[in-house]
Amino acid sequence: MDEGVSGWGFAAARLALVVLVGALLGGFVGNFWAGIAGTLSAYLALQLYQLYRLDHWLRHRSVSDPPDAGGLWGDVVAQVGRLHRRKKFHKQRLIEIFRELRRATAAMPDGVITLNPDLEIAWFNRKAADLIGLKRKTDFGLRIGNLVRDPKFLQYLQDGDFSNPVIVRPKAVEERWLSFQAMRYGADQTLILVRDISRQQRVEVMRKDFVANASHELRSPLTVIAGYLETLAADATIDPVLQPPLQEMRRQAQRMTSIIDDLLELSRLEANDEQVKGVPIDIAALLTVLRKDLLARPKRPAEVRLLLDSQAQLLGDPGLIHSAFWNLADNAAKYTPADGTVTLRWWADTDGGHFSVADTGAGIPPEHVPRLTERFYRVDPGRSRVTGGSGLGLSIVKHVLYRHGAELRVESAEKRGSLFTCDFPLQRLAATPDLAISA
Ligand code: ADP
Repeated sequence: MDEGVSGWGFAAARLALVVLVGALLGGFVGNFWAGIAGTLSAYLALQLYQLYRLDHWLRHRSVSDPPDAGGLWGDVVAQVGRLHRRKKFHKQRLIEIFRELRRATAAMPDGVITLNPDLEIAWFNRKAADLIGLKRKTDFGLRIGNLVRDPKFLQYLQDGDFSNPVIVRPKAVEERWLSFQAMRYGADQTLILVRDISRQQRVEVMRKDFVANASHELRSPLTVIAGYLETLAADATIDPVLQPPLQEMRRQAQRMTSIIDDLLELSRLEANDEQVKGVPIDIAALLTVLRKDLLARPKRPAEVRLLLDSQAQLLGDPGLIHSAFWNLADNAAKYTPADGTVTLRWWADTDGGHFSVADTGAGIPPEHVPRLTERFYRVDPGRSRVTGGSGLGLSIVKHVLYRHGAELRVESAEKRGSLFTCDFPLQRLAATPDLAISA
C-alpha cells in the first residue's frame, strides 16, 4: 500500500517536472505552450513504450522475462508477476490433488462410477471397468442402464431408494455376483460403488445348502424315532414309571420335528428370492379358517375377533400366505394369557392391503423388536421353549412377505400387548371395489 502511494507520488512529481522542463524550454525558444506540448508528447511516448513492453510480456509470459521498468510500471509488473506465480502454484496443487485422487480411486478395491443427472457415465475407475466391462474410449457419456441391463438394477435406479445395495448377477459372467450401491451427491449426480461379492454369495449358498441338506437328512431318522415313541406310549404293558419320560421324549421329538419342518420351509423360501406372481387369495375365507384353528388350539385366548374391513383379494402364493398369517396368529395365541383377546384384521386403503394381528399378551420390550425376525431369536428363550416355539416363525414371515413385496411392522408395549402388521403394496390387490371403505 505504502509502496503504491509513494509510487503514485513519484509519478505525479515526475509529471510536474516534465511540465516544468517543457515550460522552461518553451520560454527559451519563445513559445511557452509548444515547449510543454513537446515534453508531454515525449513523456506520453515513453509511457506507451512501457505499456507496449508490458503487453508483450503478458502475451509471451512463458518465454520472455518481465520488462525491467522502474516506478509505477515496475510496481505493476511486480504485482502481475506475483499474481501469476500464485495462480501457477494453485494450479499445480490442484493438478497434484486431482492426480492423487485418481491414483487413490484407481487403487480402490471397489469399482467407482459417477453419473450425471441423466444417468450417463461421467467417469469410472479401472476396477469398475474390469467388473462390468466398461471401455474407456467408448462408454463415457453412455447411459448406465444400456450397459448394465439387469431389470433389478434398472428398477433400483428408477426407484431412487439407495438405502441398500442391489445384488445383480450379470448375464455375461454368470459365476460373478456384483453389488451396486448408489448414492447421490452434488447437483443431482450419482456415485455408484460396484463390489464383487461372488465369494460371500458362494459361502452363503453353501450355508443354505448345508442347512437344507442337514434338515433333510435328520428328518427321516427323527420320523422313525417319533413313530416308535408313539407305539411305546400306546403300549399298555409298559411300566407306568416309564410313562412320564416317554411323554417328555415324545414332546421333544415333536419339537425337533417342528424345528426341522420350519428349517426346511425357510430353506425353500431362501432358495428363491424372486417375487411371487401368485393367484387371487380370498383373505376373508382364510382368516375365518385361521380363527377356527386358533379356537381349536389347546392353549387359546378367551376371545378371537375377526375384523374384515375389505373384501379385496390378495395376489399371492396361498400356501406361503397361509403359513405367514398362521405364524403371526399362532404367536399371538401362544404369548397371550387365557383371558386375553386376539384380533385378526384385514383392510385395504390407497397404500395397499394390510393384515394385522393384535393381542393383549405380554408384549415385547422395545430393544428386542428390531431383532425379532432373526433366526432362532427369542425374547425369552425359556418361555419360548415351554410354548414349543422353534424361533423360526418370524423369519419365515419376513421371507414370505419379502417374496410378496410386503413389509412387517411390529408395535408392542410391555404388558399391554403386540400388534404385527403386514403391509402389501397396491399391485398385490386383485379386486379393489371397496378401497374407499377405509381409505
Ligand atoms: P417362536 O417360534 O419362538 O415363537 P418366532 O420367530 O415366531 O419364534 O418369534 C420370535 C420371538 O418373538 C418369540 O420367541 C417371542 O419371544 C417373540 N414374539 C413373537 N410374537 C410375539 C407376540 N405376539 N407377543 C410376544 N412376543 C412375541
